[in-house]
Amino acid sequence: MEITGQTNVLSQRFGSGSIDGLGRELGQFVVTSMEIPWRLVRDRLGAKPAAVLMVDSLELDVVERQIAAAPPCDTVLAVGGGQAIDLGKYMAFKRGCRLVTVPTIVSVDAFVTPKAAVRRNHRVEYLGGASPDPLVIDYDLIRTAPRQLNIAGVGDLLSIHTGTFDWELAHRAGRDAAEPFSADDVRRARDILRLVEEHADDIRQVTDAGLQAIVDGYLLINTVCLPAGHYRTEEGSEHYLFYELEERTGRAFIHGQIVGLGVYLLSRLQENRHAEVVSLMDRLGLEYQPADMQIDHDTLVASLTNLRSYVESRGLWYTVINERPITATWIDDALRGLRFA
Ligand SMILES: [Zn+2]
Repeated sequence: MEITGQTNVLSQRFGSGSIDGLGRELGQFVVTSMEIPWRLVRDRLGAKPAAVLMVDSLELDVVERQIAAAPPCDTVLAVGGGQAIDLGKYMAFKRGCRLVTVPTIVSVDAFVTPKAAVRRNHRVEYLGGASPDPLVIDYDLIRTAPRQLNIAGVGDLLSIHTGTFDWELAHRAGRDAAEPFSADDVRRARDILRLVEEHADDIRQVTDAGLQAIVDGYLLINTVCLPAGHYRTEEGSEHYLFYELEERTGRAFIHGQIVGLGVYLLSRLQENRHAEVVSLMDRLGLEYQPADMQIDHDTLVASLTNLRSYVESRGLWYTVINERPITATWIDDALRGLRFA
């Protein structure tokens, strides 16, 4: 697919085997990675890096020290999942050098967004800005990651279903001043959801076409969100449930799965083609059941009960959560169709 419009990605290289010999084009290069992904690619690059920085922590002071101690380089080659890519993006930004990214899993969209998610005192901050040239998508390499984690990559695309609805709702309520509503952005975002739907079977089977659909979806949503300067088309009430749950439990979830649970519940609160989006999630083989994430019934009830005061106290975007009360009866009905730990 031809991706037109503004994305963060300067060039792309797709196909199985596309990492072979890549190291020979990078000049002096430093790798950011983790043990498992690095073991998968190190003998295929055709050249040795000047250094390999393993992700230890993304706390800013640790990252700064690691980068300061690294040798000079022309290129930062980031190999792995979200954290290895974030470290690579931040280092390329700090050094002002070329960035090449090789995601080994498509579970999160770190490889198409410009800013690096680093931590300051355990809080996420988005810093810097670096664009891959190229982004290298090697299907066989990505298929070595657990199938469920790659499928979870659709979570941040499925959230278009609830996110765009929330934005429309904010617009009708006159609560979209900071992120002025754009019908065109909504239309383009929903086209991405259709792309996911058309490739649902491929995504479930993690075929080349399925992986490509996820990557294209990420690239396309960034052509909508980067010019807009916000992520309203892909982030709304479904993400807010996840924020609440994460704070409540202190646990890290697989992003696409917990967002899937959010899409399940909040599409129902929205009365927004709930059955349709649930059947899509089932076709995709996405694990979104509380049982899949070791969430028990009481925890989810408490989280939903607290959700409105949670979003109000944090001044989050106006969504269905502000508009429709989440009552005990509603929760009872909504949770009946779910499986629990
Ligand atoms: Zn997300």
